[in-house]
Amino acid sequence: MEIKRVIPSGYCKGVVNAINIVKKAKKDYPEENIYILGMIVHNQFVTDELSKMGIVSLDDSKLSKQELLETIDDGVVIFTAHGIDDKIKNIAKQKGLITIDATCVDVLKTKEIIKEYLNNDYDVIYFGKRKHPEAEAVISISNKIHLISSKEDIDELKIDNDKIFVTNQTTMSFIELKEIFGYLKNKYQNCIIQEEICNATSARQKAIMDIKDGDVLYVVGDAKSNNTNKLVAIGKNNFKKVFLISSKDDINKKDLIGMNKIYISAGASTPPILIDEVIDYLKSSSEF
Ligand code: SF4
Repeated sequence: MEIKRVIPSGYCKGVVNAINIVKKAKKDYPEENIYILGMIVHNQFVTDELSKMGIVSLDDSKLSKQELLETIDDGVVIFTAHGIDDKIKNIAKQKGLITIDATCVDVLKTKEIIKEYLNNDYDVIYFGKRKHPEAEAVISISNKIHLISSKEDIDELKIDNDKIFVTNQTTMSFIELKEIFGYLKNKYQNCIIQEEICNATSARQKAIMDIKDGDVLYVVGDAKSNNTNKLVAIGKNNFKKVFLISSKDDINKKDLIGMNKIYISAGASTPPILIDEVIDYLKSSSEF
């Protein structure tokens, strides 16, 4: 059995930067309580490691960001790599909290492009994942931004404006994007489309697409991570079996019977240690 790592996979620059920002905050404000408004990046292992350092991730899917913010009154609040609604940022400042923004520069870039089109009287159609913090932060900018997640959403769109700009969440799949943007172009023939998948996401997706001899693909990552889920979806096009695993403990040896070429990829928020453990475990298991 051959075990190969897909390159590139794992941490991207935005994730590394966000985690470093949190660690720096801990050093800079040793006496303060440090809170993250959500998961700094979508990986439970990362959240648990930060928690061991005394950093609290305020994460409850039943509560809005504003409601989560209401639960704290002092200290430092860090906004996650996915971006934040400016109104929430202002509320945190008004509460007297020390605010730190760990939004990825690629997410900020897309937001700036959207703002520019809004300033020029465009309506914006944004392809993203409902309830995802990145999409929520973007749609909070204006009610002229229309979030779509499917063709059905496009069917329901009613936009009374000839000027329409179309773009997307940075971690969508390029296969989906092609389909959705093609469908949109049929409905809004004069729309301007700008693909905004970030380089890290597209490089990880293309690396999987390029593999022609794989039997099994393991994608190491967290089920909450959008870019990780998209790697799984892409892998289904050219692998016999694809599994999303959070660590080596999720590997079921039975799945490997009769399989020869095993590839390992990982989402952009998956710590290197988890990927290495999966590879070491597979390489050392002679009984497959
Ligand atoms: S996946 Fe892309 S947008 Fe998300 S943190 Fe990494 S570089 Fe930034």
